[in-house]
Amino acid sequence: MEQIDVAVVGGGQSGLAAAQALRGQGLRPVVLEASERAAGSWPYYYDSLTLFSPARYSALPGMPFPGDQDRFPHRDEVVGYLTAYAARLDVDIRTGCRVVGVRGADGGFEVDLEGGGRLAVRALVAASGTFGRP
Ligand SMILES: Cc1cc2nc3c(=O)[nH]c(=O)nc-3n(C[C@H](O)[C@H](O)[C@H](O)COP(=O)(O)OP(=O)(O)OC[C@H]3O[C@@H](n4cnc5c(N)ncnc54)[C@H](O)[C@@H]3O)c2cc1C
Repeated sequence: MEQIDVAVVGGGQSGLAAAQALRGQGLRPVVLEASERAAGSWPYYYDSLTLFSPARYSALPGMPFPGDQDRFPHRDEVVGYLTAYAARLDVDIRTGCRVVGVRGADGGFEVDLEGGGRLAVRALVAASGTFGRP
């Protein structure tokens, strides 16, 4: 069974920011993302959506939101920003990788993946958002 230090379940804005913080602590997180890209729920929101908050208050740690800081970015800009953020993280991000079960084992956790894979992890961050079944 593959052994990893920290698994982050979900590659949305929470999971990506958590992965950045874990890297900052010298850890080697692995992000497990069910969909085919690390942009969270944003690709699935309605076409006309713009952020409630201006760009200057919409950045994740370590990377400013580009462009005019006073504008309200469109949904697609958020998707682009999160995709770029994920790409510049020095982190193993595994897309198409859905977690279907987690249980405590040997002072850490065993993580079951859809399709039958299993990982042994020392620590786990649940960042799977609010739209799925945890
Ligand atoms: C209409 C609308 C407008 C919004 N506007 C704003 C706004 O203007 N400003 C703002 O800050 N917020 C806004 N939000 C809220 C914002 O979208 C969410 O707070 C944010 O997406 C939460 O990020 P997250 O990473 O926690 O979850 P998500 O973005 O939902 O990401 C969770 C990720 O986990 C993955 N995942 C889920 N289950 C599993 C599993 N079992 N295994 C592996 N991966 C899994 C999913 O595929 C997804 O990529 C808005 C929300 C909505 C609905």
